[in-house]
Amino acid sequence: MRAKAEVIIPGATIGVLGSGQLGRMFAIAARRMGYRVHTFSPDTDTPTGQVADVEITAPYEDLDAVRKFASHVNVITFEFENVPSATVTAAAEIVQVRPGGEVLHVAQHRLREKTFLRSHGFPVTPFKMIASLVDLQTGLREFGCPAVLKTAGFGYDGKGQVKLNSMSEAAVVWANAGRQELILEALVDFSVELSVVAARGSDGSFAHWGVVENEHRRHILDFSIAPARVSPAVVEEAVTITRAVLDQLNVVGVLCVEFFLTKSGKLLINELAPRPHNSGHFTFDASVTSQFEQQLRAVCGLPLGSTALLKPAAMANLLGDLWQLGEPDWAAVCAVPEVKLHLYGKVGPKPGRKMGHLTALADTADEALELVQRARLELTARYLPIRHLPMV
Ligand code: AMP
Repeated sequence: MRAKAEVIIPGATIGVLGSGQLGRMFAIAARRMGYRVHTFSPDTDTPTGQVADVEITAPYEDLDAVRKFASHVNVITFEFENVPSATVTAAAEIVQVRPGGEVLHVAQHRLREKTFLRSHGFPVTPFKMIASLVDLQTGLREFGCPAVLKTAGFGYDGKGQVKLNSMSEAAVVWANAGRQELILEALVDFSVELSVVAARGSDGSFAHWGVVENEHRRHILDFSIAPARVSPAVVEEAVTITRAVLDQLNVVGVLCVEFFLTKSGKLLINELAPRPHNSGHFTFDASVTSQFEQQLRAVCGLPLGSTALLKPAAMANLLGDLWQLGEPDWAAVCAVPEVKLHLYGKVGPKPGRKMGHLTALADTADEALELVQRARLELTARYLPIRHLPMV
């Protein structure tokens, strides 16, 4: 018989490793339900810290600071998966960390993640570990060109990736890659990118927000549409795979599975994110329970909430590029009444930096997409006097 897990009730304190926008939205959800939030990261005046009760600033490698942080909270979760495993181990000596360190260990390293998925029979993008120029040349012959070479660790939003268009580029790319663990992937000729954000409770209960359709620009999520414009069979398969991944990893919390849908209709897992995900931001406005509240419920051992969608929705990211000529026109976006503005409190917009997002609800996903895209254009039709420092 499964032991009854301890329930962490409102009034308790949740520790968050990491301090970005995911932690900020988690903290908003947690504070709304009467919890306190402490955040830990090397930075100050962070998106999460601005909302949390306490912001601890220390390097992740400062294990004494990590233990002290852990001793003041009732449970720890994270919003950033590239936390060193020693940090999680030190925290877990003092208080429960959810999802556990094993999930983090698998998901923070592309090679471990894909090997884990393949060995458990999940469909993944063809990949190969690369440890020499000969490996790279063999891999390119096997997959054909173009192919993508990625760093195995610490990669996100296209960082640490290079596309090889021909075999002749191999030597130069290998020389520039330096001594680090690398993974070569076949370039998938997909028809659409999809994701399933899902939650698993401490009792094994499961909830998901259906399949979301994602469009990336320069490897960064540009917009998401829910529900995705795909067949019910694809939805069923994607959700079944996602549930099996969460079960296999014994996740307690939220995890997102990102997929490619190939032109021949096959689903391939691109990657896992063991936390709320950018493609689930629409749930904050469009679902009975957001991905952030669900993470809170799961890590606290509470029953999961309904994930019902109030209406079809779309989300458009606001990247630092929008600040190129000055402060975007916030009033103009608020003049589209169906659109909700989210800003993360980040100072210093930079190209590619996620500064906020827009969400819209409408009768159809296409209409919602049209609304957020129109509103985003309105932001830069005219600029306000500069509030932030100009981009460097
Ligand atoms: P990643 O950081 O690996 O999720 O990559 C970011 C984005 O780059 C993905 O969402 C895709 O749009 C694109 N991408 C990454 N790997 C591949 C691949 N093997 N085939 C096709 N597109 C890819």
